[in-house]
Amino acid sequence: MIDQRAGDSAVAVHIRTYGCQMNVRDSESIGALLVRHGYRLTELEDEADVILINTCSVRGKAEDKAIGKLRLMGVEKRKRPGLIVGAMGCMVQRIGWGAIKRVKGLDFAVGTHRLSALPAIIDAVRAGRGPIVDVGDEEAEPEALTGHLDGQVLAFVNILLGCDRQCAYCIVPTVRGREWSRPADSIIKEIRALAEQGVKEVTLLGQSVMSYGRANAVWPGASASRHGFTEPLPRLLEAVAEIPGIRRVRFTSGHPSGCTDELARAMGTLAGVCDHLHLPVQSGSDRILKAMRRGYTADTYLAAVARLRKAVPALALTSDVIVGFPGETEEDFEQTRRLMDRADFDNAYIFKYSPREGTPAAALVDDISADDKLRRNHVLLEDQDRRGLALHGVLVGQVVEVLAEGASLRNQDRWAGRTTTNRIVIFEPRTAVKAGDTVAVLVDRVGPQTLYGSVVGDGEI
Ligand code: SAM
Ligand code: SF4
Repeated sequence: MIDQRAGDSAVAVHIRTYGCQMNVRDSESIGALLVRHGYRLTELEDEADVILINTCSVRGKAEDKAIGKLRLMGVEKRKRPGLIVGAMGCMVQRIGWGAIKRVKGLDFAVGTHRLSALPAIIDAVRAGRGPIVDVGDEEAEPEALTGHLDGQVLAFVNILLGCDRQCAYCIVPTVRGREWSRPADSIIKEIRALAEQGVKEVTLLGQSVMSYGRANAVWPGASASRHGFTEPLPRLLEAVAEIPGIRRVRFTSGHPSGCTDELARAMGTLAGVCDHLHLPVQSGSDRILKAMRRGYTADTYLAAVARLRKAVPALALTSDVIVGFPGETEEDFEQTRRLMDRADFDNAYIFKYSPREGTPAAALVDDISADDKLRRNHVLLEDQDRRGLALHGVLVGQVVEVLAEGASLRNQDRWAGRTTTNRIVIFEPRTAVKAGDTVAVLVDRVGPQTLYGSVVGDGEI
């Protein structure tokens, strides 16, 4: 996160984020809220007066990591009197006061339903009124925070809060609440303002983003859009792609039930909508998919993929897979390997199953050993590396269009950006390149997840 200053004498807050893009987005909007409130943000833990850890709850390991970090900060407090340490997000929503019990010296803990109260809570702790725990009322209206930090080229925008899917293994519906879609006009207003500040690419976020506009109305009236779209998400994609200054639009995460003909047509015909979709599959075994309550079979998943690829031949697909779900046999696992090959994923995140208290799957025996989970995890990662290398290998010698994001983290002489298919490209700028420029890059080398090359031509396309 960029340093954002409200004056050098202001109290400095360092925010550390664990977990998914929703958490990254929450941290950004909380950062913007704190700056408006008179605090300043710092990248440096050492110079911070307040350290805020945004926690994840999806797997046990994610919670252990957050607790470990918070305990370390608790130790740090002994060396730095006056340092304030707090936790926010999904884990806090789940365990409430348990956070204070588990971390000695924790000053505050704020759940996902009460993030907008954070500035007031930090003020109160600074005034000596800690420790404070606030997880709000789960029945209350959801709050969509819309603030952004300045100077960004890419932005995440929440369009759908919560999740109604109830996958058997997943804690997200418990900690993020019921599904609620933001009205289209407020999303468009937020993105117009971002475009005026120089944002070129937006990613529309929702846990099951294709459910946008299903639980509540988001468009006034039922009329079709200019391109004849009547479903809420294609209409939104069209409206966002038309905002002056926005060059690329992405949306995540998908679900096969939402891959309608209309959505495929929107992806295929709207120029700004990227040729990439994150479509978590979780397993290739129908038996396991049923136990996971995912609502599709391997065949219906592959049919959704075929529908999308027909409309968007260049489509790059990425996915999430869980290995070691209760009862997963070697044959179930082999079915997952086969499905991943048939879907030809560009990239995939592989997770070892972790039982989450309160989810339906937690009642099943976690019968796959840690060794088997680890082995299956490695096998899928190796398969994926091979697939990634093969998919990327054909790009050597080709020119790809890249939205430049900034200097590469590993080597400041090189730049990093992404293709519309969401492939990371590390390139030599050669000509003057600014963040936000779209440049042509000749690919000369590839890795399983990355393309390498140099800019051709005089810079921006
Ligand atoms: N809403 C998104 C979706 O359904 O595609 C993703 C939600 S979750 C933050 C990201 C991924 O974590 C899931 O797709 C799943 O693969 C993984 N995950 C969720 N619960 C898990 C669990 N209990 N154990 C292991 N992995 C889990
Ligand atoms: Fe969890 Fe399933 Fe909702 Fe994704 S769609 S957040 S995996 S319940």
